[in-house]
Amino acid sequence: MSAQTQVSADERAVLDAVPGGSLVGDDWRDAGADLDVEDPSTGSTLRSVADAGPDDAMAALDAAAAAQAEWAATDTRTRSDILRATYDAILAAKDELALLITLEMGKPLTESVAEVTYGADFFRWFSEQAAHVGGTYRPAPTGGSRLLTMRQPVGPTLLITPWNFPLAMATRKVGAALAAGCTVVFKPAEQTPLTALVLGRLLRAAGLPAGVANVVVGSDAPSLIRPLMADPRLRKISFTGSTAVGSTLLGQAAQNILRSSMELGGNAPFLVFDDADVEAAVDGAMVAKMRNGGESCVAANRFLVQAGIAAEFTAGLTEQMRARVLGRGTDPDVTLGPLIDAAGRDKALALLGDAVDRGAEVVTGGGVPDRPGWFLEATVLTGVPADARITGEEVFGPVAPVTTFTDEDEAVRLANDTEFGLVGYAYTRDVGRALRIAERLETGMVGLNQGLVSNAAAPFGGVKQSGLGREGGDEGIAEYQNVKYVGLPLD
Ligand code: ADP
Repeated sequence: MSAQTQVSADERAVLDAVPGGSLVGDDWRDAGADLDVEDPSTGSTLRSVADAGPDDAMAALDAAAAAQAEWAATDTRTRSDILRATYDAILAAKDELALLITLEMGKPLTESVAEVTYGADFFRWFSEQAAHVGGTYRPAPTGGSRLLTMRQPVGPTLLITPWNFPLAMATRKVGAALAAGCTVVFKPAEQTPLTALVLGRLLRAAGLPAGVANVVVGSDAPSLIRPLMADPRLRKISFTGSTAVGSTLLGQAAQNILRSSMELGGNAPFLVFDDADVEAAVDGAMVAKMRNGGESCVAANRFLVQAGIAAEFTAGLTEQMRARVLGRGTDPDVTLGPLIDAAGRDKALALLGDAVDRGAEVVTGGGVPDRPGWFLEATVLTGVPADARITGEEVFGPVAPVTTFTDEDEAVRLANDTEFGLVGYAYTRDVGRALRIAERLETGMVGLNQGLVSNAAAPFGGVKQSGLGREGGDEGIAEYQNVKYVGLPLD
């Protein structure tokens, strides 16, 4: 089959409507078409766009720097209204965006629709936050003078996102930065530039002035980003992606003492205690493991189940994993799409193979279907030994390793035995235990009797090697603000 015949006429129309290259100031830099965007369910090219180079990236920073003073001085009600108009515009474009997300990233269309709702919500949330930026006023404890604080935008920002949530990873950074009064150079992942380009178009259509948000799409991230990190006009980096790249960027950020927010890898434990509602735990496990096909930094990476209910939990999980239907996400029957690319599938297969070599048992799945695309069956493993790579590394795919524990102390010890600390989940009906676990988990977030923590109104982020800073909630906008203190005597 040719690439053309794998794309329907409706899909082609949506793909053709995507801008052809980076948004820099008021220009779409769409000359040339040398960045090929792949359909991970077929391996064929969906659409090609212009591949930005370092000059385009620097022009984007020029535009952001030129627009900074005026955007910072724009009254907060106007900023709020533009964010709210973007929220409305994203929802009005829901079908187009959801289809693009499914085409370039692979997840089933129902999940893409959910991502559009979730992603749009950051603009609603930050439109509400934008008009509520305040300060403080306090008498100095020693008397006499007064201590005032104000919050000011940090300045031009660089926002780098991964491919797994092409819209939502962008909106929670862009929404927060714009609400705070910062201008933006946004670089999406090279695998999923199309959704990002449409977001750029929607922002402009919603009234965002030229230069305030720039979108740079290109294949060679290091060469695009390095010169920007070295430029003293840049005042902030916010990155979501692997811990290895985050660490490299923090090294670069050290040169100019850049404000840095890092949302990095996870290795989420999912604890199920004997007193849990097992049916609810299985349902929660499916959400925590299989949302986004397991390609999420908050995906449950290790199931730790108390011995007394391990058989019942594993049987329930296995039944639901078996029911997953593999295929292209545009097919309404499909409940599990492909992994993002060959490298993503190879990594998941390597971790799976390593666990099996060390004695784990494959209860269901484990195979690669004989078809194009980067598919991997929904897989449940039991008897995974503690030294298996999968207990220490993020599998980022539909593989669920189940191990058992005997008591609460062992559960906490196993859960915390990782350098990562993004999120942990726990199922128990005992309220005291639930709170003890929430306090003892070394993570930035905890899901108690729920398998999903993402919410625009909540502070999302990790501890340990899972990162620095928070996105969403009241904390999200603060990442893009400097606090300035003013002291003055009364007489
Ligand atoms: P993943 O493994 O999920 O693809 P990465 O950390 O490799 O995560 O990529 C996340 C984002 O970081 C992408 O937008 C990618 O282009 C970008 N990126 C990768 N390497 C670098 C780098 N050296 N400097 C800046 N950005 C990078």
